[in-house]
Amino acid sequence: MQARQTSMTYPTETRIMPSPDIAVVLGTRPEIIKLAPVIRALASRARIIHTGQHYDFALSGSMFDELQLPLPHLVLEGIGGNTRGHQIAMALQQLTTHFAHDRPNAVIVQGDTNAVSAGAQAANYLGIPVIHVEAGLRSHDRAMPEELNRLVTGVLADVHCAATSVNADNLRYEGIDPARIAITGNTIVEATTATLANAPDRAAIVSKLLPWAPTPAQWALATIHRPENTDTPEALSRIMQGLAHLGVPALLLAHPRTLAAITRWGLHDAASALAIAPAAGHREFLSLATAATLLISDSGGVQEECTVLGKPLLVVRRSTERPEAQEAGFARLVTPEQDIAAVAREVLAEGPGLEAKLRATPSPYGDGRAGERIAAIACRIADGESVQEAIAGTV
Ligand code: UDP
Repeated sequence: MQARQTSMTYPTETRIMPSPDIAVVLGTRPEIIKLAPVIRALASRARIIHTGQHYDFALSGSMFDELQLPLPHLVLEGIGGNTRGHQIAMALQQLTTHFAHDRPNAVIVQGDTNAVSAGAQAANYLGIPVIHVEAGLRSHDRAMPEELNRLVTGVLADVHCAATSVNADNLRYEGIDPARIAITGNTIVEATTATLANAPDRAAIVSKLLPWAPTPAQWALATIHRPENTDTPEALSRIMQGLAHLGVPALLLAHPRTLAAITRWGLHDAASALAIAPAAGHREFLSLATAATLLISDSGGVQEECTVLGKPLLVVRRSTERPEAQEAGFARLVTPEQDIAAVAREVLAEGPGLEAKLRATPSPYGDGRAGERIAAIACRIADGESVQEAIAGTV
């Protein structure tokens, strides 16, 4: 990835401008997408630090240009591709060095990645206030590395920006002081709306990326990337068989991990029954999702985006930390014991009436002003207000 500053050591005497005072630590595609509204609202106060967890250009580097964000001020070294423990340890060490050398007034982390765990630890151990965006999600599934990252960050954070009241309840249940919880909404609402509004010539993107001409009346768009779905040949082959038998054509936009798994497990025969393309750019993905009849995914972010797009989604996972999308009627969980194709056929049988109903259903993730609220809280804290004052003055 191209970056303005890639070295961990830089002589202070050559710096002309002071560093922005609010560090935004991120490391993966969904963090860039969901923190974009916060970074825009922070404007010149945002110091973007990329841990390099996602180092693939399509998943990370290209996102900054696509979302018209400033490039990171700092990119950590040697993180991507390592084991989870090494990623967190290496990022913690580099962030600690950086924060000790050039102390920010607040640190923002988002979600549940290794970058979040490392960013929250580095800041907390140096006494720098930590603001956790998308706090309080819980799958109660300790087999998910993300659940442990959420729990660790929940212990360390000073401000918990919960997207929904369900998330706030989870935090209160764990004993978090309610005065430290701000219900802000989820930034995905404004992130999705803004990206779709900037998608150049949506019809052209859709006709360029769809492998079928003419476009079928009904078709499904799928993304699969979670370890539980890609790390064994049985799991991935079951999903690919399901996608091949939906009764409508399916396009699988394959994450680099999924492409590697198809090769590793020799699933080329199963793959030939599907249309498969590499991960698309974010504008392209949202344009395709708007055009598809049904979404099928194991992604966290897509569970939220479907509520803004008004599209039905099958969530191919054992558990979810995002019950709101299901309760509002957008998403259905399909566990490994269930037949993806059978559930898809049930949903497709509801016809265009289902989409009309979903488009008229408000997103449970808020009013599209979460980014503003989170940035306002961070600025107040960085300016010296207490957590309670900053939250009370904002939400
Ligand atoms: N996404 C994308 N291109 C694709 C597939 C997904 O831009 O080909 C976006 C999608 O819109 C969502 C995000 O990637 O905002 C979700 O990221 P991912 O599924 O990698 O992570 P998760 O949300 O599960 O943490």
